[in-house]
Amino acid sequence: MYYIDPHVHMVSRVTDDYERMARMNCVAVSEPAFWAGFDRGSVDGFRDYFEHLTGFEPKRASWSGIQHYTWLCINAKEAENVELAREVISIIPEYLNRPGVLGIGEIGLNKNTMNESTIFREHLDLAAKTNELVLIHTPHLQDKYKGTRMIVDMLQERNDISAERVCIDHVEEHTVRLAKDGGFWCGMTLYPTTKCTPARAADIIERYGDDRIMVNSAGDWGPSNPLAVPDFIQEMRRRGHSEEKIKKVVYENPLEFFRQCSRFEFTPPE
Ligand SMILES: [Zn+2]
Repeated sequence: MYYIDPHVHMVSRVTDDYERMARMNCVAVSEPAFWAGFDRGSVDGFRDYFEHLTGFEPKRASWSGIQHYTWLCINAKEAENVELAREVISIIPEYLNRPGVLGIGEIGLNKNTMNESTIFREHLDLAAKTNELVLIHTPHLQDKYKGTRMIVDMLQERNDISAERVCIDHVEEHTVRLAKDGGFWCGMTLYPTTKCTPARAADIIERYGDDRIMVNSAGDWGPSNPLAVPDFIQEMRRRGHSEEKIKKVVYENPLEFFRQCSRFEFTPPE
């Protein structure tokens, strides 16, 4: 079955991962901008990163026949440096019209601080002004419910970004309702231990349905599995779900969300 991994940080993976993903029928990935494992020292560090995401990474993906899309932002962790964050937000428009850019992301909250909220709101201002899609990171473990609540409140206090143009990622059992009830798209991250396992993601689909929801590996430089989406496909098959239903979650839903971006171009597999 063809699938799309809508959240994977390929800059921190090797070319062999692209090859293995392609062999499992991955046809496209989308790569949000994220934390590099260290705080970058200047806006030029982000310029280089955005060049990497929009230049070399799509090329490297194409060697395995995978289409590569990306999202631009400064992540919540580095938003604590408000001055640098504002500089980064000011240069993002220079890169938005490059092929493969889908919007602003992954923005959101990490520790639910004031500075993170300020920079989250300023990213939303940019998305509203430039009419971009938004991809949102929600915090880990004990900070997740409160952070997701704060994110939904900040989105709902404004009327210039509509819910169907926003994906709230890393939802779990206790936050999926918040995102779905608000009319937002949801992403479930399939991690070996934290976030969702393939079985928990399948449970959530069974309970809350298959509309406006997708699954991703969020593969990065930490413990993660870039082949997690195929594991989810297997789990759904084991449970007797139809191929049509599985395909909706792993292929059609990400496409439906991405197609709202006017620059989005996609070549369907033969
Ligand atoms: Zn991520």
